Amino acid sequence: MNDLLVVARAFNFASQRHSKQRRKGEAQEPYINHLAEVALLVTEATKGKDPNLVAAALLHDTIEDTDTTCEELAICFNDDIANLVNEVTDDKTLRKEERKKLQITNASKKTQRAKILKVADKTSNLRSITKSPPKNWDSLRKAEYIDWAMRVVAGLGDVPRELKGHFDTAVEKARNSV
Ligand code: ZN
Repeated sequence: MNDLLVVARAFNFASQRHSKQRRKGEAQEPYINHLAEVALLVTEATKGKDPNLVAAALLHDTIEDTDTTCEELAICFNDDIANLVNEVTDDKTLRKEERKKLQITNASKKTQRAKILKVADKTSNLRSITKSPPKNWDSLRKAEYIDWAMRVVAGLGDVPRELKGHFDTAVEKARNSV
């Protein structure tokens, strides 16, 4: 599959699978907005040289939040994309607290490309806390989320500087909004 085709197909696949989902924030943005934002951050961080990673960014929540399986991604796309999405997918058989803890402790074991995807995801989520926080989140809940995202990203270690810059800015703005 050619590079542009793989990205366009991922975009289409993700928009269909997440079509009924909205972001948790007050603005109730379509879920695809989050995926587009993460894909852009990843594209910039890799200077447009890693189309499979961009496709994985578009698909990164399909296994966790829709009925898509890793096998399906391997068939519809390729093993590389399926493995990348799998690497950033939480084990939903575990309790939420446990999953959140594992994101921190497992961060350093991720491949470099999965790390880039993780930071982009957390950056997008932090921007949402500033722009359109969930209605039922009080200051403490927001502060706890910011703190957790920072610990995950600290655990990842080295990531491209510009991307880390976007993350740090998102942290700062989110903190100021709490
Ligand atoms: Zn996400």
